[in-house]
Amino acid sequence: MDESLIQTINKLQDALAPLGSGSASPVDLPQITVVGSQSSGKSSVLENIVGREFLPRGTGIVTRRPLVLQLINRRASSTTNNDLIDIQAIDSKGNKTENNPDEWGEFLHLPGKKFYNFDDIRKEIIRETEAKTGKNAGISSIPINLRIYSPHVLTLTLVDLPGMTKVPVGDQPKDIEKQIRDMLIKFISKPNAIILAVNSANQDLANSDGLKLAREVDPEGSRTIGVLTKVDLMDQGTDVIDILAGRVIPLTKGYVPVINRGQKDIENHKTIREALIDEKKFFENHPSYSSKAHYCGTPFLAKKLNSILLSHIRQTLPDIKMRIELALKKYETELNSLGPELVQSPSSIVLSVITDFCNDYKGILDGQTKDISSNELSGGARISFVFHEIFKNGIYALDPFDQIKDADIRTIMYNSSGSAPSLFVGTQAFEVLVKQQIHRFEEPSLRCITLVFDELVRILSQILQQPEYSRYPGLKEKISQIFIQFLRDCVYPTNTFVTDVIKSEETYINTAHPDLLKGSQAVSMVQEKLHPKPIQVDPKTGKPLSAQQQQQQAAAASAASAAALPDDDKSGSFFGGFFASKNKKRLVAMEAPPNVLKASGTMTDRETQETEVIKLLIMSYFNIVKKTIADLIPKAVMLKLITMSKIEIQKVLLEKLYGDKDLESLVKENELTTARRKECVKMVQVLKHASEIVSTV
Ligand code: GDP
Ligand code: MG
Repeated sequence: MDESLIQTINKLQDALAPLGSGSASPVDLPQITVVGSQSSGKSSVLENIVGREFLPRGTGIVTRRPLVLQLINRRASSTTNNDLIDIQAIDSKGNKTENNPDEWGEFLHLPGKKFYNFDDIRKEIIRETEAKTGKNAGISSIPINLRIYSPHVLTLTLVDLPGMTKVPVGDQPKDIEKQIRDMLIKFISKPNAIILAVNSANQDLANSDGLKLAREVDPEGSRTIGVLTKVDLMDQGTDVIDILAGRVIPLTKGYVPVINRGQKDIENHKTIREALIDEKKFFENHPSYSSKAHYCGTPFLAKKLNSILLSHIRQTLPDIKMRIELALKKYETELNSLGPELVQSPSSIVLSVITDFCNDYKGILDGQTKDISSNELSGGARISFVFHEIFKNGIYALDPFDQIKDADIRTIMYNSSGSAPSLFVGTQAFEVLVKQQIHRFEEPSLRCITLVFDELVRILSQILQQPEYSRYPGLKEKISQIFIQFLRDCVYPTNTFVTDVIKSEETYINTAHPDLLKGSQAVSMVQEKLHPKPIQVDPKTGKPLSAQQQQQQAAAASAASAAALPDDDKSGSFFGGFFASKNKKRLVAMEAPPNVLKASGTMTDRETQETEVIKLLIMSYFNIVKKTIADLIPKAVMLKLITMSKIEIQKVLLEKLYGDKDLESLVKENELTTARRKECVKMVQVLKHASEIVSTV
């Protein structure tokens, strides 16, 4: 039971390994991390715990990537004996190697490959270290995961980390000390990390790098275990009893003294088994330790670590449990959003995607978006902005008189009367000029359609950006194509409709429009402007006249002045203004009219007055049409483009997509989605399994 708990944690660790040891991992698992200065004996301690040699050796920083070492106790199979002395073999270099069918290693990065030869494990560690860090002694915090199955180990998870160095050697990076330190801190600062601080017993404990670092992240010393190596190298008469008793640097979890093989032992091919036997003898026979020999040595350390790890797991279990449940929920939700693996027929997928799309489209246009953003207008609101701000302002900014000049009015006045001078030329000139000006509404109206078209395309891509549409990239692309083509097809009749609206305004000038300024009103306004009168006084009462009375008077006056207009004799010919009288010579010579004949010269009073009247009427009528256009065009666009697309899009998509011969390839799933689903399925499986295990504890 207890063992399986650690094993489950181990499995979880493997499953979460692709996420790295960083914060991405949903569950921070308890593990024992080994820290200490270089050559303090870290690798030796680990090898002794495993009982086998498999770690790279050498000078300098040998351990350059974290090694997550999962030890798994398994009972020996019945066919081989479970004796400590295993099959021994001699490798090519003449070294003793042991191959035992019950003991093997597996790397996470080489799934399924079993290493029975521990020399090969060492080679693979070296190879894999160099693969990520190069040969130049750089370091990397990406762990190597190694799992060792053996009847001789207790189930444990240990992490071997690079030793702390002070001075970069060779072509090591200048900041190697900081790099290593940062990596160690990253590993041991996790609250679930148990710190195994390795110190040489023949050096001052107060100077121990491992303990110093451990204190930084665990000042109480509550999750730090001290290991004292090289006890055999201590001066005669000295021992570590004071340290063990907690009188030097106390640690809640205490210290364990061990003896590993020295350099000479290794050169003499002393096996670890032999070393373990010698270690046992040393403590049992040493005067200082003999009374507490069973609290010393590697086997005790392994047992202690195993029980600390177990109790730590039990302690942190509620938290781990919660995290597993949270992570499980997260992955289940994601899995749900990815949708089930392809079980539906292609046509039903197409149908449901189309339905979703159309609902999304209508929803956005109607302002029923799922996430109504507060800092940005979206969908229907943006279209409304196009209508009521951009288009309306564009229309209202049109000023007929930035094109019509007084001289033009005069020219048209003459022209529209043709060869027969008419009595009142204003009406015709007014119509010609107004028609020209109304035509100017066409351009902003067509521009309004383009803007709305752009907005609809924008809505389309906004919808298709949602993650649920990324599942079938082929279908997504096709929907986008069909939709845009359909919108283009709608734009054509919309343009026609809108230009027709404007054409109809141009074609018939409704001079009887109730809002249009009356001719007489215009005349009196002009007269008022040209010859402002002092406030009129009623000759009978001597009081100022009311506005109504004034108007009546003005009307009467204008009628009088119209009647009193000077006759031809006085003002010259009808075209009098055209030919400046100073050119009398040409008049006499009766030259042909010049190629371009324009009204020029100073205007007569009557001309000025008529021009002003026409201008007033143009302005008045232009404003009426402005209102109509600003009101009508959005309605037309709404009818012919927006509503049309809303109503028809489903039908169009169904027709076009169902007609597609290659429906099968349209609903081919995005590879990312497939991969992500696989990942989620795996995570859900692992987490569910873990959740089952932890919930039974
Ligand atoms: P690491 O750099 O911390 O991994 O240290 P190693 O495990 O590689 O050990 C460094 C050196 O110290 C090696 O030559 C070991 O043989 C030696 N050594 C480690 N532990 C002991 C010990 O308990 N006794 C003796 N005599 N030598 C040891
Ligand atoms: Mg080492």
